[in-house]
Amino acid sequence: MELDGLKVAVVGAGIGGLAAALCLRTRGADVLVLEQAEAIREVGAGIQVSPNGMKVLRALGLAEDLRARTVGGRAVVLRDYRGAQVLRMELSALEDAGDYRFVHRADIIELLAGAARDRGVKIRLLQKATEVVPGAPARVVLCHGDHVEADLVVGADGLHSVLRPVLNGSAAPFFTGQVAWRAVVPNVVDHPPEAWVHMGPGRHVVSYPLRGGEMVNLVAVEERRGWVEEGWAQVDDAANLRAAFAAFRGPVTRLISEVEQPGLWGLFRHPVAQTWHGTGVALLGDAAHPTLPFLAQGANMALEDAWALGAAVGAEGLGGLARYQDWRRDRVARVIAAANGNAWKYHLRNPLVRGVAHMGLGLVGRLAPEKMLRQFDWVYGYDVTRLGG
Ligand code: FAD
Repeated sequence: MELDGLKVAVVGAGIGGLAAALCLRTRGADVLVLEQAEAIREVGAGIQVSPNGMKVLRALGLAEDLRARTVGGRAVVLRDYRGAQVLRMELSALEDAGDYRFVHRADIIELLAGAARDRGVKIRLLQKATEVVPGAPARVVLCHGDHVEADLVVGADGLHSVLRPVLNGSAAPFFTGQVAWRAVVPNVVDHPPEAWVHMGPGRHVVSYPLRGGEMVNLVAVEERRGWVEEGWAQVDDAANLRAAFAAFRGPVTRLISEVEQPGLWGLFRHPVAQTWHGTGVALLGDAAHPTLPFLAQGANMALEDAWALGAAVGAEGLGGLARYQDWRRDRVARVIAAANGNAWKYHLRNPLVRGVAHMGLGLVGRLAPEKMLRQFDWVYGYDVTRLGG
């Protein structure tokens, strides 16, 4: 194996960190994952794993296991907030139909963590990193005063990464003027295996089924002036969510009525990190490039990063870190720009503009349905596993 003897410490056992641990371990590295939490546990929430992310899971031998635990998305349906259908895009038209999955976060984390342990990755819990010091070896300082040294330290520690400012200085994110509520509710509307996007003035709500259709994931976004914190630690009163979507009609309101204690997240824009690597260190996933959820690509980008890091370091050793950044930065920046541009399209306030825009969408959807999906080929059709052989 290419990386026999390379000592790697990964900070963070999220989707990005665990996938990176697997990609490096598969190439022979000796990998230790350091996670701050007391258990590998996830908030009850869904994510969409698209064919580009599934390619990484397939290359790791995990795609079939993930398919067994998840719902295959058949279509994306855009609706007016009163319930009228605007556009339907059949996901079966995608090249990798069947590889667009609605996933419970806990299930993908459990799958990745189990596979990592089975293949010899060590995962240590209650290991909050307070500092990462680049060098040969690089060093992770832990909150209880201990430290870990490794040839390569991967900062996969998410939004509030301790490594990112070491390489890039600190950059203040800016509030987008949008907040997102997130909840998982029982499937009381017989939600088909589709992602529904209900679009209203200044707000939209996305829903899709999880776990064999037993539950439905809801993400409801509202534009507002006052900001709330970034992160799911904040819980809101469900009455606020219901009030914000009181004008919505159709089954989605029934789903909203089931919400008990939604998480509330302020949506911030962060620049993509300029520098993703230093001596013996690399950034990955949200630590390098937090993204708004409007293209459902954050976790998919973290999976792609993980593969690219393994391939670059596998081919060139630590000298491959520059190549890793070259392979990833432009693509990630393009995906994030596309996600940034999406929200306003859902939130049109002027009824006239909204009516015309929805009519136009509906028309293209009817006359050239392929065209609507083809515009995402560059996102979903990309195969990062071709990198590095
Ligand atoms: P994280 O998931 O944040 O994991 C970081 C890990 O590091 C955590 O386990 C944390 O406990 C640990 N950690 C943090 N700090 C330290 C420290 N100092 N020491 C040790 N451990 C530490 N993406 C999609 O692809 N599809 C979707 O449908 C989708 N929907 C989304 C909906 C919403 C509303 C939001 C906000 C995001 C969504 N995303 C989606 C984005 C996706 O959730 C993230 O991009 C993805 O989880 C990033 O993974 P990560 O491993 O980089 O970071």
